[in-house]
Amino acid sequence: MRKIQLLRLLVQALFMAGLFMSFMPKTKVVSSWLLPTIILAGVFFCGWVCPFGAAQDWMSKLGRLLRLPRLRMPQGTQRYLQLLRYGFYLVSTIGITFALLKGPHNFSRFMRGDFLTIASGIIILFLLVSLVFDRPFCNYFCTGGARMGLFSVLRIFGIKRNTEQCRQCGQCSKACPMNIDVAHTDFVRHPNCIGCMNCVSACPKGYLKYGLMPGNKKK
Ligand code: SF4
Ligand code: SF4
Repeated sequence: MRKIQLLRLLVQALFMAGLFMSFMPKTKVVSSWLLPTIILAGVFFCGWVCPFGAAQDWMSKLGRLLRLPRLRMPQGTQRYLQLLRYGFYLVSTIGITFALLKGPHNFSRFMRGDFLTIASGIIILFLLVSLVFDRPFCNYFCTGGARMGLFSVLRIFGIKRNTEQCRQCGQCSKACPMNIDVAHTDFVRHPNCIGCMNCVSACPKGYLKYGLMPGNKKK
């Protein structure tokens, strides 16, 4: 299954190059196909397309190469902390609405001035944290991921675990950059799932597959 990770790396690199060479598709084009795919199959955008997600992944890989210690939020704390991004989503929506209500002139000045300086600092900070902690921004702060994740809970395609044969070794959970407890989930429909397929690649026995949601078994 490592081939899928190689393919993901290539796709991420392509979109990263697109960002720097300005051949990224227009936002309107992206959003027209994004919503139906999210509802059907989950938030692949975050795991395969988003350049900032890719940059965090690459910094995590670098951290592993340098054998830096890995940090992980305990599941009990993760359950609550992952709600943060919905809070930020709400606050940012209110903030932008407020700035727009004050006048488009104020809004554009806000976007061009302090905001960009602060954003650059924040991006660098998150990239440094990614050396020891998987996808810190996506896990707790990304408002776009929060919005898309909410739609993805309806998906009918996702990661299926072979519950009869799974030995619950936990390697899939450990490989998940979004800290989802895959080893104890029959069908991953979690709003944080970014479709990266790390869990599928990590299972030594191939007990995880991407596919259609299983129906209820008749007793
Ligand atoms: S890695 Fe495979 S065997 Fe281990 S818990 Fe996950 S699905 Fe089960
Ligand atoms: S559950 Fe699997 S596909 Fe989803 S984010 Fe975690 S590792 Fe990636």
